[in-house]
Amino acid sequence: ADIFGPERKNSKGLNMNIISEAEPFFAALEKFKDTQWTAGPLVKGETLAGEVRDVVSPYDTTQKVGQVAFANDAAIEQALAAADNAFASWCRTPVETRANALQKLADLLEENREELIALCTREAGKSIQDGIDEVREAVDFCRYYAVQAKKMMTKPELLPGPTGELNELFLQGRGVFVCISPWNFPLAIFLGQVAAALATGNTVIAKPAEQTCIIGYRAVQLAHQAGIPKDVLQYLPGTGATVGAALTADERIGGVCFTGSTVTAKVINRTLAGRDGAIIPLIAETGGQNAMVVDSTSQPEQVVNDVVSSAFTSAGQRCSALRVLYLQEDIADRVIDVLKGAMDELSLGNPGSVKTDVGPVIDATAKANLNAHIDHIKQVGRPIHQLRLPEGTENGHFVAPTAVEIDSIKVLEKEHFGPILHVIRYKASDLQKVIDDINSTGFGLTLGIHSRNEGHALEVADKVNVGNVYINRNQIGAVVGVQPFGGQGLSGTGPKAGGPHYLTRFVTEKTRTNNI
Ligand code: GLU
Repeated sequence: ADIFGPERKNSKGLNMNIISEAEPFFAALEKFKDTQWTAGPLVKGETLAGEVRDVVSPYDTTQKVGQVAFANDAAIEQALAAADNAFASWCRTPVETRANALQKLADLLEENREELIALCTREAGKSIQDGIDEVREAVDFCRYYAVQAKKMMTKPELLPGPTGELNELFLQGRGVFVCISPWNFPLAIFLGQVAAALATGNTVIAKPAEQTCIIGYRAVQLAHQAGIPKDVLQYLPGTGATVGAALTADERIGGVCFTGSTVTAKVINRTLAGRDGAIIPLIAETGGQNAMVVDSTSQPEQVVNDVVSSAFTSAGQRCSALRVLYLQEDIADRVIDVLKGAMDELSLGNPGSVKTDVGPVIDATAKANLNAHIDHIKQVGRPIHQLRLPEGTENGHFVAPTAVEIDSIKVLEKEHFGPILHVIRYKASDLQKVIDDINSTGFGLTLGIHSRNEGHALEVADKVNVGNVYINRNQIGAVVGVQPFGGQGLSGTGPKAGGPHYLTRFVTEKTRTNNI
């Protein structure tokens, strides 16, 4: 059944268990196994020169993926000028035309699915399943925001007034939107931000994460091919300290959409507050310290299934991922026992192999930080289980999935963005303290609950301050239009990506009172 109504279908993705779908897919994927891509700043559709860097694969740094030129000051200035100039006409382009280009982009993403998935595995170290899901989510964002923008912007809202007076409320783009996206969803979040800003009539300068510039470059090329005018969407690869800092300090921009760390979101916020010019919105989606609360009525095998997928798949590199598992003491030993067995079943290795469940983390810095935390937390707490890294992972940024028992969430001073699960036992009589402790982190992104007592589950869901609650399932993989995604507190500003209110922050309003 089509749960979205006639106007929009979510992408169907790909079912690797159906041979007639899987075989042509893997044959097409194979074609990109040695491809060397080049990428650079794209301003008015021209690829500009810049400082060239090699791009290597996170799972084997001896394997090159291609090269990227980082944007220099001249490219940044040209992009700002182009986007600023293009705004007046793009914001007056009918929303239908803008939406049609995004629908076309969604089709082109599906047509180029294998190349994009190959890039997800080779440039970002994502598993094939994660790559499939990534392209699907990018498609969904384009289609969803196209439909939402048409709903909101096709006609002005008519407002009451005295006889002879016509009152109308119009929504329009805000100006140049700077979209700064993370490496963990280098296509889906990258294009989600861009599609939202474009649909609503903003021009865009997109800055990808410096680790995943090639896939963003291909996405922008496809957007231009889909009919997004070349001067409306610019692409500037580079670091946050150079490109990000210059863009967010510029007076010509009309808004910033950012997904990444809470620390960086605060830096951007301060930059926006300190610059000359208008007061403009920052839409930020940031980190989490996500918990799952499991009571003794729950079913250990189901719990473990959901814990493993929430904590360890994608090498724990989702901001939705489970970090702190609360187990009611009467069920804790049983769950931990099943958990160890399930961890042993995980296959670690080359993300380009269909057998792999857990690939590398993104880079050497992430690996070093995560391993330092593992060493530290094993001292502070009690190790439960740690996988051994298999042969063939020596050249990559692999971190062994690890579970450690700790006494309190308060020993975690920050988010650890990798395959590390912290486990805490609690007594039924201490449930309120568990809720208070989770809330005390200040983060509020996802919460998992396992319970067969509905009243109990709903009470926890109500009292923990988070954006997304999942009862009796895993807590990752929000679907566009189904689980609008995003947190509160230190986890972000809202509104939620893939939800009905997201576009409202990308627009400004004009009331026109007409007595002609
Ligand atoms: N939307 C993703 C999910 O539900 C997480 C996004 C992120 O990691 O930024 O798993």
